[in-house]
Amino acid sequence: MNIVEIIYKKKNNQALSKEEIDFFVQGYTEGKIEDYQMSALLMAICINGMNDEEILNLTMSIVNSGDVMDLSSVNGVTVDKHSTGGVGDKTTLVVAPIVAALGGKVVKMSGKGLGHTGGTTDKLESIEGFNTQLSQAELINQVNEIGLCNVSQSGNLTPADKKLYALRDVTGTVECTALIASSVMSKKIAAGSDGIVLDVKMGSGAFMKDIEAARELAQKMVTIGKGAGKKVVALITNMDVPLGNTIGNSLEVKEAIEVLKGNGPKDLTETCIELATYMLNIGDGANCSKLNIGDTPDCQNANKSKCRAMVEEVISNGKALEKLKEMVRFQGGNVEVIDNPDLFKAPLYKKEILSLDSGYIKKMDAKLIGMVACNCGAGRTTKESSIDYTAGIVLNKKVGDYVEKGELLATLYSSTVENFEAQEKDYHSAITFSNDLPQLEPLIYEVIE
Ligand code: URA
Repeated sequence: MNIVEIIYKKKNNQALSKEEIDFFVQGYTEGKIEDYQMSALLMAICINGMNDEEILNLTMSIVNSGDVMDLSSVNGVTVDKHSTGGVGDKTTLVVAPIVAALGGKVVKMSGKGLGHTGGTTDKLESIEGFNTQLSQAELINQVNEIGLCNVSQSGNLTPADKKLYALRDVTGTVECTALIASSVMSKKIAAGSDGIVLDVKMGSGAFMKDIEAARELAQKMVTIGKGAGKKVVALITNMDVPLGNTIGNSLEVKEAIEVLKGNGPKDLTETCIELATYMLNIGDGANCSKLNIGDTPDCQNANKSKCRAMVEEVISNGKALEKLKEMVRFQGGNVEVIDNPDLFKAPLYKKEILSLDSGYIKKMDAKLIGMVACNCGAGRTTKESSIDYTAGIVLNKKVGDYVEKGELLATLYSSTVENFEAQEKDYHSAITFSNDLPQLEPLIYEVIE
């Protein structure tokens, strides 16, 4: 087999065989295929796409490039979730403890933030002492003891994806449904859980800007998951507006705690409740008899509304917040900050952003707002940059709110940026006003099961 022939084949819009896909994934991972050849092939894939069989073969080839987590010694049904990336998305911090409080087993592998999107690992590492590097034995023990763990992706899972993603990042080949679907699903399949809930973000702060693109990605990922023998459901959720009222690592942990206390903002709370409901439901269906969901006698038939009621209950009775604390304690973090979030290190500098106009906020450019937070120090501009955990934005006004000129729109925080002039200018340009109350978009656009 020859890589040039494979490139020609895809350039001529022909489907690649399993053998050809294995050949280039393996060859590239082992360094036998050059970056320039892989770049040409990736671009041909972006332009001509892949059919479902090719995407499944590509996914499984990436899975097989490294280790696969063996979760067979976890006592119960394992459920995972994945977001395609957004701004202010702290849902994992909320939903994992909720599902664990209801007997689900959550082995969550999270990534670091890059550019305008945040990463759960960074948010958790804003808690002093929190260790996201557990060995496989440690994480299985922890999940058997308390029902959840949240770790960064371990060394040798999907090495092909690491190389391919880094190359895509610098060759204009990130925005491609076949490549995103195989990249995301390879990591989820290698992470080993029985059930997977996908949160496909759509809107100005997401990769997918419209419903057609989001639906195509969601359907492809669900098809891959099913092809790999997993239970999968995808929710297409709103990322046209930052989720919740905070962006930035310790700010987002504080807000997640508020949601678990029942005091979170409506959009974030509702999105978390829906995601947790589907995680519980999918875990239940995967193997109900193994899922210890309290005294529910007919858990076999646990349906969505019952799951939702259970989710709401563990928020109101405080059990989900207790689970978050247990996880922080088990992973070496300072639990006192969960009881008293004022103990998080305070930012050194802040800048209040006052509105230059009066009117309803019609649109927010969530990606640009995410970049403002990143440029305050909350994110990375390169994979090597370090993070200022105190940095970020508290949003006072969002889409649909009426604002008077001079009213507080948001506050920027940082311990590394003193002069916020550029960030303030960008924040203003991210907001569009109108005289009329805009039509509010739904939080959940579609569910693909
Ligand atoms: N997230 C991933 O893990 N991979 C992609 O290709 C895009 C988003």
